[in-house]
This record gives sequence, C-alpha cells and structure tokens, in this order.
Amino acid sequence: MKTRVLAVLRRRLPVWLGLGLALAGCGTPAKTPLVLAGVTVVDVETGRLVEGVNIAIDGTRITAAGAEVEIGPGARVVDATGLFALPGLWDMHTHSLWSADALATFLPLYVAQGITGIRDMGGTLASLAAARDSLLGGRVAWPRIVAAGLVVDGALPVDASISLGVADSATAYSAVDSLARAGADFIKVYTLLEREVYFALVRAAKAAALPVAGHVPASVTPDEAARAGQRSIEHLLDELDLVCPVAEPAACERLAGVFREEGTWLTPTLAALRPKARFDDPAYAEDPRLAYVVPALRNDWLSGRVSRIEQGPEYLAGKRRHYADEVELTRFFHERGVPMLAGSDAGVPFSYPGFTLHDELGLLVEAGLSPLDALRAATIGPATFLGARDSLGTLATGWVADLVLLRENPLLDISATRSIEAVVLRGRYLDRATLDGIMDGVRRVVATR
Ligand SMILES: [Zn+2]
Repeated sequence: MKTRVLAVLRRRLPVWLGLGLALAGCGTPAKTPLVLAGVTVVDVETGRLVEGVNIAIDGTRITAAGAEVEIGPGARVVDATGLFALPGLWDMHTHSLWSADALATFLPLYVAQGITGIRDMGGTLASLAAARDSLLGGRVAWPRIVAAGLVVDGALPVDASISLGVADSATAYSAVDSLARAGADFIKVYTLLEREVYFALVRAAKAAALPVAGHVPASVTPDEAARAGQRSIEHLLDELDLVCPVAEPAACERLAGVFREEGTWLTPTLAALRPKARFDDPAYAEDPRLAYVVPALRNDWLSGRVSRIEQGPEYLAGKRRHYADEVELTRFFHERGVPMLAGSDAGVPFSYPGFTLHDELGLLVEAGLSPLDALRAATIGPATFLGARDSLGTLATGWVADLVLLRENPLLDISATRSIEAVVLRGRYLDRATLDGIMDGVRRVVATR
C-alpha cells in the first residue's frame, strides 16, 4: 500500500457513521485482565515478526504490549509461546443481514473463523436493526458490523428482496435519508442506477456524511465513479468494463492512475467468482461446509449450480475466461499500488461465511499479492478504509483487543490464517474449545431448519 494513497485517504475519508457506535457499545468487557504471554506479533504494517511479546488486555482494549509488560495479580495469563498474534480479520464484502436465520448462523461463523469485523454490502433493514440491537446488547460472539442496509439500485432492482429502487434524482435525497435513519453506515450503489440518479445519490450521501461504495452502474464509467468519490468498487471485471489489461493496457494504466489519485479501493471477491467458473466440479455439491448453511440457502446454491451446468460447456468456458481476467485485473491494479480489500461476498453461491475469507486470502496470493499484502487487505487495509486506523489493525497499547492467535506463521504461508488457536473479540478470550462450540452451535441451528 502506498503511503501517498493513505495520506490522500486520511484527508478525504468521511467518518463511517456507526463504527464509533459499534466500538463503544458492543461487548461486555472481560471481568479479569488478560495477558497473552510470550506471543509472536505479526506486525502487518512493517511485515516484521516481533517475538516474546506480552499483550495485556483490560476490558475491550490492549492496555500494554511489549517484552516488559508487568503481570498484575489476578490477571488471567495465557501462555502464547509459539503462537502468532494477528489483528482480527475483516471480511469487507458480505451479505449477512437478510434474515433471522442468517444472523444466527453467519455471524457466529465469522468469529469462529477469526473474523472480528464485517462490512455488509446489502441486506434487509429489519436484520440490520436486529444486528445493531444485539450488538448494543453485548452479544459476544458477533463481529463488529459496518453495514449498508438496503442496496440502492434502479427502479427495477436486480435483487428486489434487499434493494431500494430509486427511479429519479428527486427521490435520491429521501432514499439516503431513510437509509441513514435506519442506521446504514454507507450507501451501497448498484448496477441498474441511471446516470443522473447515481450522481444525485452521491451528492445526497455527501450531504448526509455517508460514504458511497459498491458496484459501478452500467450508466457510469469507473473513472467517473472514482472521481465522484465512490470509496470502493466491488468485483472488478463486471464493474470496470475492461476486457483485461492485456487487451486494453492503456485504458487500464489510465484507470489505475485515477484510482491511486482518488484513493479508490478495490474488492476483487475472487473466491465468490471462482465457483462460477468451476460449477462442473462435483466437490461443490459435497463440500462439508454445506452443513453450516441453512437448507433454504443451501438448496438455492445447489439448484443454481445444476442449472448453470445445464447451460453447457460453452457457458462454463466463458466463466473460466472471466475468472482468469478477474485474477489478471487484481494482479495488475495491485502492482500499480491501488489498495485492495479482502471480501468473500459471503452468502452468494458457495461463498461460506467465515471460511471463504480464508479462501480469498489464498486467491489474492495466487493473483500476485504477497502473503503480507493479502493480510493487509483484511487488517490495516479495512482499518484505514473505515477511518479507524487509530483503533483497529494494530496490536499495541490503546488499540481495540480484536486479534487472532495462529499456530503457524501466515507470512510464510497464507493458509496459516486457518490454524486458529484462539480469537480475542473485544477483549474476550475465545479458546479453541469455545470456537469449536460456536461451530457446533451453528450446525445445530442449521439441523433444526
Ligand atoms: Zn455482493
């Protein structure tokens, strides 16, 4: 990540409303101070490993971190020798807030998989309200949530169940106003918005101090969206309308320059696009992770897969080329210093809440990011993007105590993010047995549906 880009972002980033609320309100502080003794901290800013660190946690914050930290009487000391401490992961593109079942199954899975924060890119307002209430009520095993609520799309939305259709510029202000009042942290824009409506929404969002993120509508070019101040663009290929850098190198170079200048972030969501290219692989129908997905959603995924396969080999070959181009775009923009966010698109077919973010980190590395850069896309990247760099993404005195303890070194092999020994969520220590219990709980919920 380029320092200049960060400086630009710091200057321009509006405060993500609601994040402060979530930080202040959620999670009852742990009763006894906690000390993680002798841990190796993965400093995602410098890429260094700092060995022999004692991390003291009181309430929801890290109160001290270093080799010399004093361990007071009554503190719970966890021997973390040989473990790697990583800031809590963020999944920056999920669809988790669309029903009570989704809340009950998706949110605990994130925590059990080391994900302490999510950016939700579209759900229902009722679910958003329920999630907010629950977080304020101190539910422990839920991640921090930054959410759009309803997606804002054209008059006839792509997905009417989670969208607000806005037909003209005159209603843009009232749409933004209603979302703001419902507790939205940002405005998620979508594919079918008309040009004037899109720009009216951007103005309305600016007036309400809400950031805009999401798809680039077909009526707007990606550089126009970036210049208008859209903070992030999701799933590159469909949105950027570029074949791939090999075919259109000049256009891609110019666009990379615009993104760098404007501080526009990209969320490739490779893990969500890859299944579409491989639906003929029988492994998708036998994935043991299906046991964590409620039947209604699971059946939707499985029948969707069958109907795509029925469209024939030509169709799947097209999807394979599409995926290869997406990987190529990810590599291209990353090499040019455009900041990236790790997002799974959890909820779309075969994108599992929690699990799939780890797939995404591996795919980002396959696309050309170093393991450190992939980790940044899920830690300090999100913290910077959300304007919360002073409380999230670093394991130092004063920062929020959201972290993951790993058995293996993720800088050597990105798949080590799966070797989770414990999670600290807003100061609460959740050991392996507790995390397994959370996973079992989700399977039980699924089995009753
Ligand atoms: Zn999405």
